[in-house]
Amino acid sequence: MSSLNLYPLPYTASNPPAELFRDIETASGRSDTTAFETDLDERDMFLGRRRCVVCGDGDRTLQHCHIIGGKDKPAWNLLKTLGWVPTGVKAEPQHESRNGLTMCPNHHQQFDDWRFFIRFEPNIKKYIFVLCDSYEESQAGKRLHGKAIALDFKDKRSPLPLLFLVHEYMVRGRNFFQRTSDVEITCEWQDWITTEDVVDDGNDGSFAFKRSAAPSSFSTGRPMPWQLPSTDAPPTGTQPLLTPPNGDLVAQLMAVQRTMPSWKEWQKETMGWEGTAEENIKRYVENVGVENAGVENSGIDN
Ligand SMILES: [Zn+2]
Repeated sequence: MSSLNLYPLPYTASNPPAELFRDIETASGRSDTTAFETDLDERDMFLGRRRCVVCGDGDRTLQHCHIIGGKDKPAWNLLKTLGWVPTGVKAEPQHESRNGLTMCPNHHQQFDDWRFFIRFEPNIKKYIFVLCDSYEESQAGKRLHGKAIALDFKDKRSPLPLLFLVHEYMVRGRNFFQRTSDVEITCEWQDWITTEDVVDDGNDGSFAFKRSAAPSSFSTGRPMPWQLPSTDAPPTGTQPLLTPPNGDLVAQLMAVQRTMPSWKEWQKETMGWEGTAEENIKRYVENVGVENAGVENSGIDN
């Protein structure tokens, strides 16, 4: 009658029965893996379709990809120690959607094979595709080189610039021979973004991706304005350069990413509230910033 004694007691095997393993449930009831994939599916949507953020491919083979390897817990823990990610982040890098990208199988493979990296360029507030292949195996990547991919730093789940820098260090190690240390980039989008009219560009450099398939939902109004700390934007007509990573770049990207809606939202999600009210307010202001109140949904940093 009873079904309680499913396993002989005492249970002496070294591991729990396999059928008892389940994904960890989040507060919302979704498994962490499902939450990761759902967040990416909702974020990397253009004209009503999921797309590869690099090339715009939108077929059913799209993959959920990780910037920091999904199993690379040593790197993840080091990032927490360094303060490059909030201290309360998920234990596994594979479950954090701000560590994720939607890509086609081709670009997923090239990303994991260290053929290219993505650099957030503070002067133009865009994520740039940089081909970095000493072995010249990525001929197709040349047409993508130096142009911005379809990520929006204003998004509450946009990848943090320093996560991409960790990947960039690894790419540069693999491709140790480069003909030039400085890389010319443009302020332009990848071709598919402009030819398919996927983005609204403002005259002041602001932009907003068209997420919905319904024209009426994005064709009115101006692109969402943005404001990040002032940077030394290159004069019009000159080619910006990406310099190799150094301490100054890390400090610059750290300062920029702490102003991003993604960082602030991440801090709020991971903050503990076990202290007194005063302690919690102090910690909130330190980690998120008091100026965030009231403009959380605008993506504007005043
Ligand atoms: Zn692609």
